[in-house]
Amino acid sequence: MSIEYKQGLLELDYKQTEATTDKTVQALIERTKLPGLRKILTENPLLYNKLHYLENFKSNSLIKDLLDWLDSFKTRVRAIEQICKIRGLNYKSITIQQLIKFYYSYLIDASFLRYVSVIDKKGNISNLYIQVLGALNITKNSLTNLAEHARLFRKHEISGFLSGIRNPDGSIQEITQYIPVTKGTETHAVFNQIDLIRTIKKLNNINEALVGFCHSHPNMGAPVFSSEDKRTHLFFAKVCSTYHYFSELNIHFSDYRIFKLSFHLANYKIAQIKFILAAIRTMLRKRLRIPFGLALIHFSRNLSFVTQIKNDYTFFIMKDTYNANIRKDIQERLNIAYNDLKEKLQNILNKFKIEPETIEFNMLPFAGAVICPRSRNFGIVDIDYDNNTRNKWFYYRIIGKK
Ligand SMILES: [Zn+2]
Repeated sequence: MSIEYKQGLLELDYKQTEATTDKTVQALIERTKLPGLRKILTENPLLYNKLHYLENFKSNSLIKDLLDWLDSFKTRVRAIEQICKIRGLNYKSITIQQLIKFYYSYLIDASFLRYVSVIDKKGNISNLYIQVLGALNITKNSLTNLAEHARLFRKHEISGFLSGIRNPDGSIQEITQYIPVTKGTETHAVFNQIDLIRTIKKLNNINEALVGFCHSHPNMGAPVFSSEDKRTHLFFAKVCSTYHYFSELNIHFSDYRIFKLSFHLANYKIAQIKFILAAIRTMLRKRLRIPFGLALIHFSRNLSFVTQIKNDYTFFIMKDTYNANIRKDIQERLNIAYNDLKEKLQNILNKFKIEPETIEFNMLPFAGAVICPRSRNFGIVDIDYDNNTRNKWFYYRIIGKK
């Protein structure tokens, strides 16, 4: 992957990464079967006359990753010079261990790359053009925590949520916190319903909102969403958007019930969600007593198969676990459930001779963060919901804040 950028280094909390890197280097010294590598790591010589020597230890994955990372800059020397400049150090006075610590104290913001190379299942390489729309503020603390989480479990896909503050119009003012969820398997990131409910509840108490999710790609260099990642993103974005919509309505239902309804609604298409919300809202306005509870009962009954199929708790495993036929089947059953529910809601509206009102329901921005702990590449993607063309996925420029 060739990279050309001037900016785009996201600086992490150095003290925090330094402490964990020390442990990593120590473990590497104890484990390595290469006496030469053990020697340079324990003697820790100055880097400038040993940089070339590192080339001999490319069979070690950490050294290989380190050199690959340096190669993603124009030249290795330029990379180290640039890093030293940020750290206020002299190129000739830094040591090999320091370089490893520096390596772990930065991320590269993928939105500064012009394109990334993507390898498909058949091994074909293509270039994915990086489209950037908008910027997101994220605290250094959350960046550091997510990067360290991904690094410590670098053989597994980790997952976590991003919390933050939304502006009155729903846009994300700032991502303030990374909430680690779990480590998954080598190819799956796992999120479950209980974690999602707990997180939303906890955030509600501190007046923050769920604004994104994060997972890692341990074996990839490019922070690119897979088709399953895109489905998960869209699902989460719908949960958060409908949850936000209900919260603004000032209806007196528990957070749990609002969450439950948002969660079920998220299985539908945006146009379908709009109709259901409009019907429910109209009923609430007209003070009809049936709507919310009834709607919830229908949802629970019609959609229980979704949770059945998707295992009790684990509702999203980020892999093509369900083949095309099963997915088609789920989609068909969802459509039947929707038509059934629509008919019932329509009957209630007809009975009271009321028209569903038009509502302002906008999908909210949602931050889909993906980190590649080896290449230190990091990207936050989202969907442009107003754009009807196919290429509506884009990257945010990341603004790291203290
Ligand atoms: Zn993924």
